[in-house]
Amino acid sequence: MLTDPNCIFCRVVAGEIPAATVYRDANILAFLDIGPLSDGHVLVIPLGHHEKLSEMPPKLACALAAELPRLAKAARAVTGTEGFNVLVNEGKVAGQEVKHVHFHIVPRRPGDGLGYRWNAGKYPEGRIEQLQAEYRETIAKGSR
Ligand code: 5GP
Ligand code: ZN
Repeated sequence: MLTDPNCIFCRVVAGEIPAATVYRDANILAFLDIGPLSDGHVLVIPLGHHEKLSEMPPKLACALAAELPRLAKAARAVTGTEGFNVLVNEGKVAGQEVKHVHFHIVPRRPGDGLGYRWNAGKYPEGRIEQLQAEYRETIAKGSR
């Protein structure tokens, strides 16, 4: 398993930094975020050090995603909320501060003031077809 001694979350996995763990199995760890966006905010991480979701081995991504329904259901039950956001920040531009893949599960409450501007745009003529072609070609070429 990959590990980085300078990574905070690898140190959480190793037990060197204490964390309020809520779930652990052979591949993943879930624990409460120390700086919660809302009460009950949980982080779900692979045990191994992987910086980016986009570079994660698909099998490991599956192992992590497989537990999201159960963990999200628990978040709802424990916090008494009806909904949540699941969020991954990848890269500095997206606000990733800890360079070890993590899924945020953020319980939502009416009027909590969370969220971000959802400024839906509009494609100029031809752009959506161009993007579709580029995505299809890139995905077809992409390694797994
Ligand atoms: P990012 O901005 O990288 O998506 O989110 C990193 C998250 O990790 C933040 O929400 C932050 O509060 C949380 N975090 C950073 N260091 C620690 C830590 O040592 N323990 C815990 N439990 N959470 C941490
Ligand atoms: Zn790490």
